[in-house]
Amino acid sequence: MQDIPGAWLRTARGAGLLGPNGSPAPTIFAEMSALAARTGAINLGQGFPDEDGPAAVLEAAREAIAQGVNQYPPGRGFPDLLAAVAEHQARFYGLRLDPERDILITAGATEALASALLALIDGTDDEVVVFEPYYDSYAACVALAGARLVTVPLRWPDFQPDLDELRRAVTDRTRIILVNDPHNPTGAVFGRDVLEEIVRLAERHDAVIVTDEVYEHLTFGTTHTPIATLPGAWERTLTISSGGKTFSTTGWKIGWISGPAPLVDAVLAVKQFLTYVNGAPFQPAIATGLRLPDAFFDGIAATLQHKRDLLGAGLCAAGFDVSEPQGSYFTVVDAATLGATDAGDFCRALPSRAGVVAIPLTAFVGPEHRQDYATLVRFAACKRVKVLEDAASRLLALAD
Ligand code: PMP
Ligand code: GLN
Repeated sequence: MQDIPGAWLRTARGAGLLGPNGSPAPTIFAEMSALAARTGAINLGQGFPDEDGPAAVLEAAREAIAQGVNQYPPGRGFPDLLAAVAEHQARFYGLRLDPERDILITAGATEALASALLALIDGTDDEVVVFEPYYDSYAACVALAGARLVTVPLRWPDFQPDLDELRRAVTDRTRIILVNDPHNPTGAVFGRDVLEEIVRLAERHDAVIVTDEVYEHLTFGTTHTPIATLPGAWERTLTISSGGKTFSTTGWKIGWISGPAPLVDAVLAVKQFLTYVNGAPFQPAIATGLRLPDAFFDGIAATLQHKRDLLGAGLCAAGFDVSEPQGSYFTVVDAATLGATDAGDFCRALPSRAGVVAIPLTAFVGPEHRQDYATLVRFAACKRVKVLEDAASRLLALAD
């Protein structure tokens, strides 16, 4: 391959996004899905459902394509989807949004996160407080924006932050407190005391709260509380969600961000130069989804809770120590009970030992804290019952 001058690659390399040979280091999800495809192992790694979501949503996309909804949508998104997001926030959370000013449609939650971080971060003195382990794009985008990541640990087995550690992490240098609730990869749902402390600290230090709530409808026995609904939070909070998890359409990449108009405008200023717009025919389809009756939303949570229980029982039977997630697609286990000392090695060997793929938690942790999560592994429950049953019986091989 032709040599490319190192200076050309400064930003990608500086942000730690290139591997030692200069090519992009694949995300852990891509690496593990490729491993599953190569070995024929059951993929409980990357979090995507293996069956379609509601027929009405799929049909609405087909209908939109047939009706010619195939050109650029407006920059903020189609007005009907903006209205549907506003209706959804009012119906589930009592939040009253102005659909024309307080909401922006994005290319998935990922673009909403990237645009918000790029819009709000000013320079290298800025700090972004995140809860570690964290979804992989957070650290990458903070690095691309040139800011410093400050972490608050979430510890096995309940993964709730220690409030004193949280207080120490937030200072006047904190520009953003980045929250993910329900949490990937741990399945934690933050307690009200945690959410209240985040708001208090954001007020005290004049920080913005950016909250990723893509698993908002996937909680087990608790109802989701958007941090934006807490007293004092709305005026400094950007809330992100997406249709991917709720409607089993992760490939459609329709997301949204909402909050006070001036903050949303700043995000739009960046977003319009990333993708500009995306997914024209999928936008009306997600609007259809957001307007589905309550029974649909209750049903997806109950179904996933059943799958979580099935997966949890299988993991227990295989000999893992299993945490109990309160939400999200994921269950974390401690593989130390099976002799693991390095979750990455354990996951790379799992297809040959048991015909299953999972994700090491170390992939969601900065290099300096990997040791603290060295034996923890994440399994995805968002698969068909039959697939989870097969995986559970394969994993029994570990117990022998
Ligand atoms: N945030 C979290 C916590 C996620 O788990 C994911 C993906 N599964 C995303 C963001 C990305 O969402 P989207 O596919 O809508 O970009
Ligand atoms: N959010 C999904 C997960 O955590 C993966 C999405 C991706 O591959 N970037 O598994």
